Amino acid sequence: MSEQTSFKTLRDTPISEYLTPGSPLCGGCGGEIIVKLALKALGPKTILVSVPGCLALFELYPYTSLKTPMLFAPFPAGPAAAQGIVDGIEALVSKGRVSNPGVKVLLLTGDGAAYDIGLQATSAAIHRGLDFYYLCYDNEAYGNTGFQFSGSTPLAASTSTTPAGSGLRKKDLFEIWRAHNPPYVATVAASRPVDLLRKFEKAQRFRGPKLFIALGVCPTGWGSDPALTVRLDKLAVETGIFPLKEAVYGRVRHTYIPRSRKPVEEYLRHQRRFEHLFKPVRRDDLIRQIQEDVDRYWENVRE
Ligand code: SF4
Repeated sequence: MSEQTSFKTLRDTPISEYLTPGSPLCGGCGGEIIVKLALKALGPKTILVSVPGCLALFELYPYTSLKTPMLFAPFPAGPAAAQGIVDGIEALVSKGRVSNPGVKVLLLTGDGAAYDIGLQATSAAIHRGLDFYYLCYDNEAYGNTGFQFSGSTPLAASTSTTPAGSGLRKKDLFEIWRAHNPPYVATVAASRPVDLLRKFEKAQRFRGPKLFIALGVCPTGWGSDPALTVRLDKLAVETGIFPLKEAVYGRVRHTYIPRSRKPVEEYLRHQRRFEHLFKPVRRDDLIRQIQEDVDRYWENVRE
């Protein structure tokens, strides 16, 4: 990005922490890194809304890992709960009870809520221009309930309900959201923290829905080594499987283009959910399909 930003290098990362050390999330959970960074960019006046999903574990009454308030809502009701908070703050301002609150409302969801159960409510919230931030931590399955297939599960990935590998491709949530023409949509990755911070900073210029899809490396569900979370995240970006991009009022720009993409195999072979592609018999047909999908995507990127 050549735009003005407070985040030029990793050294510019704010030192303030809004997550306490330790949490009930699994060791090596990529989602924790994402939320940690997002809160650093958004600052202390952030109110979280959470729906069922792994990140709801940040608050397990009477314990909390958060230094910010969080409201827990039913699965499809996250956007409605965010609307209630936004409206409540506006009511307080209009009555003169508070002035210039500068509060940001951040809805945290997993892919189960974002791609499936809460999609209708999200669509309605974008449509009515709700002024909120929406962060989908996408671990490509229902991670909190036993790693069942979701609308985000990628082709050939094994889940508890697709043990032989999914036969479907994941939905393109970025494009679904972009079709609503919100002010800002972006993808973010834990291995690219400066890109993430810049995007959350940039989003603050806009009033209305600001939506983020974060790759959610999930050692427990993916069967990956918790120590390799950031490396795996980086491989997703470098193989081109997870494109880093943003769309401002629908106009897409890739914020990182991997010039010499690594083969997708380098990403797949570190995960037990894709183990059946390599043994007992190597499934070149499926590996090729996944590679071709990625190649086709990048052939259409003109920047
Ligand atoms: S199941 Fe996966 S996404 Fe959920 S807390 Fe554990 S590592 Fe994170």
